[in-house]
Amino acid sequence: ESRKNLNFIEQIVENDLKEGKNGGRIQTRFPPEPNGYLHIGHAKAICLDFGIAERYGGICNLRFDDTNPVKEDMEYVDSIMEDIKWLGFHWENVYYASDYFKQLWDFAVQLIKEGKAYVDEQSAEEIAKQKGTPTIPGTHSPYRDRPSEESLELFEKMNSGEIPEGKMVLRAKIDMASSNMHFRDPIIYRVIHIPHHRTGTQWKAYPMYDFAHGQSDYFEGVTHSLCTLEFEVHRPLYDWFLDQLADSDYRPRQTEFNRLNLTYTVMSKRKLLQLVQEKLVSGWDDPRMPTLTGMRRRGYTAQAIRNFIDKIGYTKYEAINDVSLLEHAVREDLNAHAIRVSGVIDPIKLILTNYPEGQVEEMEAINNPEDESMGGRKVKFSRELWIERDDFMEEAPKKYFRLTPGNEVRLKNGYIVKCTGCRKDEEGNVTEVYAEYDPMTKSGMPDSNRKVKGTIHWVSVSHSLDAEVRLYDRLFMVEDPASEKEKDFRELLNPDSLIVKKGCKVEEYLKDAKPLDSFQFQRIGYFNVDRDSTEDTLVFNRTVALKDSWKK
Ligand code: ATP
Ligand code: MG
Ligand code: MG
Repeated sequence: ESRKNLNFIEQIVENDLKEGKNGGRIQTRFPPEPNGYLHIGHAKAICLDFGIAERYGGICNLRFDDTNPVKEDMEYVDSIMEDIKWLGFHWENVYYASDYFKQLWDFAVQLIKEGKAYVDEQSAEEIAKQKGTPTIPGTHSPYRDRPSEESLELFEKMNSGEIPEGKMVLRAKIDMASSNMHFRDPIIYRVIHIPHHRTGTQWKAYPMYDFAHGQSDYFEGVTHSLCTLEFEVHRPLYDWFLDQLADSDYRPRQTEFNRLNLTYTVMSKRKLLQLVQEKLVSGWDDPRMPTLTGMRRRGYTAQAIRNFIDKIGYTKYEAINDVSLLEHAVREDLNAHAIRVSGVIDPIKLILTNYPEGQVEEMEAINNPEDESMGGRKVKFSRELWIERDDFMEEAPKKYFRLTPGNEVRLKNGYIVKCTGCRKDEEGNVTEVYAEYDPMTKSGMPDSNRKVKGTIHWVSVSHSLDAEVRLYDRLFMVEDPASEKEKDFRELLNPDSLIVKKGCKVEEYLKDAKPLDSFQFQRIGYFNVDRDSTEDTLVFNRTVALKDSWKK
C-alpha cells in the first residue's frame, strides 16, 4: 500500500529501508514508565511506534522503563497493557528495563575502568552549582580524577546498601565545557533504598534515564527509537553512550516528534496523579480525565482516538491541539455506529387527553439513519409520555417551534400533537402538559406528511426506565492550564465539569444495555452506560453533545 503524504518519520524509515540499514530490519518500542496510567498523549506515541512497525513489516516491543522504584507500581503495568490492547495494537514482546540492570551495571563498570566514569561524593546542590550555564563552562568536580579502582570500590558500595541515598553518584566523564549541558559529566547512577516492584532489594544503585534508555534500545535491537521533542538535546548523549558500547554496524537511531498537547487539559502524570490522590476526580478512570481508561469509560472509542491522532499527524513543531478536534472525531465515529434512542434528562409528563386510556401502540424506530444494516425496532407509545421540560413553554417567543398552547409538533416516530395547556402547582411550576393527538398523522396514515416545524422526543411513562445522567464538561476552565505559571493548576479546575441529573427517563429498549455500550440520545448527544449502573437505575455518561445540540 503506497501512501502519498508520508510524515517525516515514515520518510526516514523508507530511506533506511532503501539503503538497507540494519539489514533492512524495522524494530520500534513503546517505552512507558509504569508510574501512572496512559493518557491521550501516550496514544500518539503508541500509534507511531506500533503503526510504523505494522506499516513496514517490523516489530514493536512494549518496554517498561522501570528504572526508578520510587514511583513505579504493578498496577500501572497492568493498566498500560490493557490500554494498548484496547487501542488495537499488539506488541511482539514485553520487556522491562529492570531486566537489563546487570548489563547496564557491567557497562558502567567498563566506563569506570576506561576512565570514562567516576564516583562523585558531592551533594546534588554542589554538582548543580558546578554545571555552569550554556555560555559559561562548568567546573571540574574534585573527585573527577580519582583512580578507577577507588571509583569501582565505591560503586560497589553504592549498590550494597552501605552508602545512604544522596551521598554518592556515578558520573560519566565527558566534557564540562561542552555547549550541550547534557555532556557536562551527566549523572548516570544514583542510590535509592526503596525496593523495586520487580527486582526487590537486589539493587541499590539505579541507572538514570539517559544511561538506561539508549542501551536498552541497543540490547533489544531497536532500529528506530521514536520519542518526543524534549529529548532532542539528549540525543548526542544517547549517541555518545552507544559509541562506547557498540561494536558492530548496528545502531539504534533516535528521532524526535512533537508531543500531543490538548486545550483545556493537563497531561503531566504528576498532575494527573495529584488529581487522583487529592480526590479532585473520582480516580484514574474518571470520565473527565485525559487518560485512556477515563476516555474509554466516557465512551470515546479507540477508533475515534486513532482517527484524531492520524489527523493531527507528526511534525517537529510543538503545538497545542484543540480538544474540539478530538470531540469531533468521537462524534463522527459514534454517529456512524451508535443506535438512536430516546432519553429524557429533565422529564415532565405530557398527557394526550384524546388518546384512549390503557391503549398501547408500537411505533417503528430506525436504529441508525446512517446505516440501514443496523435495522430498526418497536417502541411503545401510550397516553402518558415523558418529554423534556424545556420542550414546553406556556408563553413562548415567536421562533419557539416546540410545545406551547395552540402549537403543533411531531412526536418522533409517532403522531402530530397540538398543545392545549398545562397544569401548575401552587408556586406556578408546570407539573403536566396537555395535548391532543391527530390519529391520521402516524407514519403511513394520510396526513402523516403534514408539515409541522418542530419534532420532539418522548418516552412512554409506563414503558420507561429510571436513569441517572452525568453531564461532563471540560475539566479546566482555561485553554492552556500549563501556561498559567503563577497559578496552582488546581485553581483552574472547572467547578461545573460534572453535573449529575437524577430522575431521568430512558426507553425500555435500554434495559439490557451493558457498561460501555454507546447510544445517541436523540437531539441531545452521545451517551454510554457507566459501570455504576444498578438493577434499579442505569447510569449514563455524556460522551459528547451533538454538534448543533438543539434542533428547534
Ligand atoms: P510525563 O512527562 O507526563 O510523566 P512521560 O513522558 O514521562 O510522561 P512515559 O511513560 O515516559 O511518560 O512515556 C512513554 C512514551 O510516551 C515516551 O516515549 C513519551 O515520549 C511518550 N509520550 C508521553 N507523553 C506524550 C505526549 N503528550 N505526546 C506524545 N508522546 C508522549
Ligand atoms: Mg518518561
Ligand atoms: Mg516525562
